[in-house]
Amino acid sequence: MTSGRAAYSLLPAELKLTGDEQRAVDAGPRPPFRITRHWLSLLNGAADDPLRRQVIPTTAEQIRGAGELTDPLGEKAHSPLPRLIRRYADRALVVVTGRCALYCRYCFRRRLTGDDFGDITDKQVEAISIWLAKNREVKELLLSGGDPLTLNNRRLLKLIDRFRTARPDIVLRLATRMPIVEPGRITRSLVRGLGRRRPLWIVIQANHPRELSTEALCSIERLQRRGLPVINQAVLLRGVNDDVEVLEELSRALVSAGVKPYYLFQGDLAEGTNHFRLPLDEARRLTEELRSRVSGLAMPVFAVDLPGGGGKVLLGTDHVLGRTDKGWKLRTPDGLEGLYPDPP
Ligand code: SF4
Repeated sequence: MTSGRAAYSLLPAELKLTGDEQRAVDAGPRPPFRITRHWLSLLNGAADDPLRRQVIPTTAEQIRGAGELTDPLGEKAHSPLPRLIRRYADRALVVVTGRCALYCRYCFRRRLTGDDFGDITDKQVEAISIWLAKNREVKELLLSGGDPLTLNNRRLLKLIDRFRTARPDIVLRLATRMPIVEPGRITRSLVRGLGRRRPLWIVIQANHPRELSTEALCSIERLQRRGLPVINQAVLLRGVNDDVEVLEELSRALVSAGVKPYYLFQGDLAEGTNHFRLPLDEARRLTEELRSRVSGLAMPVFAVDLPGGGGKVLLGTDHVLGRTDKGWKLRTPDGLEGLYPDPP
């Protein structure tokens, strides 16, 4: 793993903080401050740079907003084993590690992201494997964290192999920001190893089109060439991508790179993230505007996780206006209305 060399937990000399950012860093935020050299190279120097906002702490994080929770998705209550979360009948998620190459200031799992949560142990991998073998209705396993690619190749591939041995049929999803924040981590030996362990989907997170740097696009292509499908989950963030032009540019750039924009998430009620969240009506207007501009391929599903647990709720505008005696009254994203009759 390269993040030890390629990431800064102390302030790099070329990064000049504002007074507010300095106070936030001095206060010892959670998750801690960490930035990769690659991300640093993408910053444009402006105090309101959307990429800066995602990674540099501010004192706004010290304010607990109304309804904010330490565990906004109620994951602890849905954890049959240490590091295993199951909120749906057919899926489960493994928190492989608490570490990330850099720490996003809006992270909803901030209660455990950071170095102190550590990596999954062999004993925990074994317990989860036995659980998987018994719970055969679980069809997809998400490897998440933290960022699983902070593990070295040997440990990562070994744990994938153990899960595969327990359940040869299971579909794996690996959630990682590495291709975007530390593209050099996507080495030939890593993609060779992952490519041999399909079916395996790579779920990346890019929130702004400037994150799709030349290096990031090359790392994505390396994965795709090994037959690994890459999809993107973005978070709707105030001051980062709360602009339809930015969302459209992001979606088009992803589709051009062969990456499906999968989800766009409304911000979760994680402590200290109020300054990143949009009111839901504003967020819905924005995503409807996006829907009227791009194809279905380029349109992510807009969703939110129910606070406290319960799962995802899709937030798109309902295009079914009602039923008449002639059929269903429907409206397109462009505002055109029409009727769709039921079979006689
Ligand atoms: S990479 Fe993911 S887990 Fe890590 S801090 Fe960012 S959002 Fe949280």
